[in-house]
Amino acid sequence: MEIKFCENRINLIHSFGISRSSNDYYDIIYIYIIDGDIIARGEAAPSKRYNESAELILSVLKRGLKVPESSSSKEYLWDFLKPQLKGISSLEAAVNMAVWDWSAQKEKLPLFNLFGFKDEVLPKTSYTIAIGNLNELDERLEESEQCSILKVKLGTPDDDKEIIRKIRARTDKLIRIDANEGWDYEMAESMAFWLADRNVEFIEQPFPAINLKDTKKLKSISPLPLIADENSILSTDLNGLVDCFDGINIKLMKCGSLDEALKMIALAKKLELKIMLGCMVESSVGITAAAHLSSACDFIDLDGNLLIKDDPYDGVKIEDGHLKLSPSKVGLGLNLKQKKNGLI
Ligand SMILES: [Mg+2]
Repeated sequence: MEIKFCENRINLIHSFGISRSSNDYYDIIYIYIIDGDIIARGEAAPSKRYNESAELILSVLKRGLKVPESSSSKEYLWDFLKPQLKGISSLEAAVNMAVWDWSAQKEKLPLFNLFGFKDEVLPKTSYTIAIGNLNELDERLEESEQCSILKVKLGTPDDDKEIIRKIRARTDKLIRIDANEGWDYEMAESMAFWLADRNVEFIEQPFPAINLKDTKKLKSISPLPLIADENSILSTDLNGLVDCFDGINIKLMKCGSLDEALKMIALAKKLELKIMLGCMVESSVGITAAAHLSSACDFIDLDGNLLIKDDPYDGVKIEDGHLKLSPSKVGLGLNLKQKKNGLI
């Protein structure tokens, strides 16, 4: 058994703007566990919001990860590798999804079977309309054709209502709003009522994560459900969110493993919180890993791979807006599209 890694730049089709940043590309890291004929893969898509970067991850990987000569279980392999990852969540997520991919390939099963899930036709995913030039909105909407739900990024200084008016002039598709911590209380209160009349399903993260006081106040009057993203990192966060949010957004890059995501799903159900499954801008490796969890979740937002122009891998597909995994493919079910720069 050996472990390899490869740095890769994924370039966006269009600049990706949210309330706090705008990017044309992201640097991600692939992890490979190679064991005989098995190539198991994982992806780290580090986020500045959580103080992570490709450089930070490379500084750990270049020192070398130790691997056992052989391993009989994924638990043993994960326990062996995790302490070497310095608590970097996106790196942990990458190594953990490779461990699960390895395990499912060994058992010759698709990963979702290992979780006890059966369906290969999964819920619909939303398609993100990022913050950008208002004049290009029509083009963005055309590109979202394959998805019947839009996730619209708001939290601009002045344009939030104009963005929604322009979208509504073109389509009545269901909209999910993500303010990415960009509102103050007055703005959030007026937007919640204004949006409620415009076929909007929920509002994600209206306030900065430190502002739970206003979140609780908004929840008590908001006609729309509130979903925690930047407030919802790990299962240990969930008990503290029950009075402030109606649901949580789980992302592998934040929680650091499929195991922790499964724990969050189970606890959220117990606490009667709605479950959204989200992503960073990622290629098909990370998106497909998350897709294997999607039949257990209420709202799916796994479109990171649709927003990039040079995805090196094929994995989960979209059919009539639904995510679709192949039941005949084992593990994550990935194919490398074209060999280049150390990708395997
Ligand atoms: Mg979000």
